[in-house]
Amino acid sequence: MKKKSISVPVLMYHKVGEPTVNKVLNVSESDFRRQIRFLHGLGYEAVTFAETVAGVYGDTPLPKKPLCLTFDDGYQGLMKHAKPILDEFGWKATLFIPTKWTGQMNYWCQHHEKPLSQLIGLDDIGELHKQGWEIAGHTHSHVHLDRIGIEEAEKEIAFGTSGIKGIIGRAPLTFCYPYGGFNQDTIALVKKYGYIGACTTKSGIAKKTGDPYLIPRVKIATRDGIAGLIYRIWIRPLLG
Ligand SMILES: [Zn+2]
Repeated sequence: MKKKSISVPVLMYHKVGEPTVNKVLNVSESDFRRQIRFLHGLGYEAVTFAETVAGVYGDTPLPKKPLCLTFDDGYQGLMKHAKPILDEFGWKATLFIPTKWTGQMNYWCQHHEKPLSQLIGLDDIGELHKQGWEIAGHTHSHVHLDRIGIEEAEKEIAFGTSGIKGIIGRAPLTFCYPYGGFNQDTIALVKKYGYIGACTTKSGIAKKTGDPYLIPRVKIATRDGIAGLIYRIWIRPLLG
C-alpha cells in the first residue's frame, strides 16, 4: 500500500481463443493461460481500470504489485476462453463495450473486409458486472472519434454512456478511445460525461506523471507467449 512510484501495466487484449479470425489481435487460450499463470506467479494482483485510475492518479490504495487486464469490444471468446482462466486465479478484468453492437457481430469492421466476429450480449455483460468485472465505455458504434464532428462525437459518447448505464445500473467510470483515435475535443467530452480516466492504444505503463485521460497500454498480440509478454511489459516501455 505504499504511495511511491505507483505504476500499473494495463494489458490490452482483444480476442482470446479465436484462431480463425483476425489473427493479429487473437491470443490462443493456451498462451493466455501461460501468461496469466506467469504473472500470477510473480505476485501480481489484478485490479480494474477504474481502480488503476483511482490508485495511480488519486489516493485509493492499490495492491503491492497491481496489474490491469483490459479487453476491447467484448468478443465471445472472452466468456468461453479467457474468463474461466481468470476465474481460476480469482482475477477480474475491464471490458470496453461499443453499446450498439452487443450480441451482434463486430459490424464496424465490415468496411475493412475482415471476417466478422461474434460479440457477447447483454446477459453476459450483466453477469460479468455482477461478478466484479468493470464494464466501461467505448462509444456507441465504435467510431474514430478524431475523424468525426464534435456533435457526432458527443452523441457517440452520450449514447455509449447511457447504454452501459442501462445494463449495469450506473454510469461507467472509464473509457477507451476506439482505434486509439482522439483529439482535444474528444478528451473534453470524455471528461464532460463523467469518466475518471481513459486509455489509448499507445504503448506504455500507467504512471502518475502521465495524463489520466491518455493512459497507455501494453498490447498483447498473437505471437507474444511469455517472451513477448516480458518484452512488452518490462523492456518496451524503457525504450520510449
Ligand atoms: Zn475497440
